[in-house]
Amino acid sequence: MLPIVYHPIYSDFPLPDGHRYPLQKYRLLKEHIDKLGWPVTTFQPTHLEPENLKRFHDKDYVDALVSGSLPLVKMRRIGFPWSEALIQRSLTSLGGTTLTVDKAIEHGVAVHLTGGYHHSHKDFGSGFCLFNDLILASDHALSYPGIEKVLIVDCDVHHGDGTATLAQEREDIITLSVHCDKNFPSRKPDSDIDIPMPIGVESDTYLSEFVPVLTLAIAQHQPDMVIYDAGVDIHVDDELGYMNVCQHGIAERDKAVMEACHQHGVPIAAVIGGGYRTEQSALVPLHAELIKAAFNIYFPNWSKEL
Ligand SMILES: [Zn+2]
Repeated sequence: MLPIVYHPIYSDFPLPDGHRYPLQKYRLLKEHIDKLGWPVTTFQPTHLEPENLKRFHDKDYVDALVSGSLPLVKMRRIGFPWSEALIQRSLTSLGGTTLTVDKAIEHGVAVHLTGGYHHSHKDFGSGFCLFNDLILASDHALSYPGIEKVLIVDCDVHHGDGTATLAQEREDIITLSVHCDKNFPSRKPDSDIDIPMPIGVESDTYLSEFVPVLTLAIAQHQPDMVIYDAGVDIHVDDELGYMNVCQHGIAERDKAVMEACHQHGVPIAAVIGGGYRTEQSALVPLHAELIKAAFNIYFPNWSKEL
């Protein structure tokens, strides 16, 4: 069975009417998986103790955000109104991150039905990201004996700026970001490997530029673990992305990443990342491609039944 990590709290915190964060997509994706009866085992996380974040986040930032005393201007940069429910949701999803890493190491692959908070920096958050789960996942993986290097593959349409700065001085975390060069954030600090794509890039070009770089990165850096942000905001109809990648292109991308990890025997912990549509149910088949890719590569016999 494919391990997936999910908690109902992922779709449960207060947002003002008309807020563009797709809060319901997590629940809708889980319902889709359940309805189709896909052979998954669901693991429900408990919340992460905030102390664990202080290894790479600024201590005062963690304390202020958790306690609700972060200045309003800094909350606005994150993009959510502060609430106790928001903090519980965030800490639970971070608990889900470490659980996804545990399951990936145990089974070779695991998928987290949220995550990808790559705009969270050392002492501030932005773009709907409070704390950086990709760095947390890497740090957690590195606490395992035998895991000495982690590769973060960030395919969300937005550049992984927070991840890049948090991993800048570290040789045990390699960052790869493939993103739209004219999209948020305007300042894009260097990842170890950046693949900027132009506005309007089509599936074929996207894949022919990304896949060889990924293959080379794995061959060159020999990671012991891959953390994969499978954002679907690269889709042509996404409301915050400017690319022209189709659903088939997303499926091919997800399979290529899974295949590269499988071939090299590297465990992969995947998070669903960004994806923005007013009609949130339209995101479900796009995010479901990640689950299908995991079946396709790791459980080919079961994938015929999907
Ligand atoms: Zn994004």
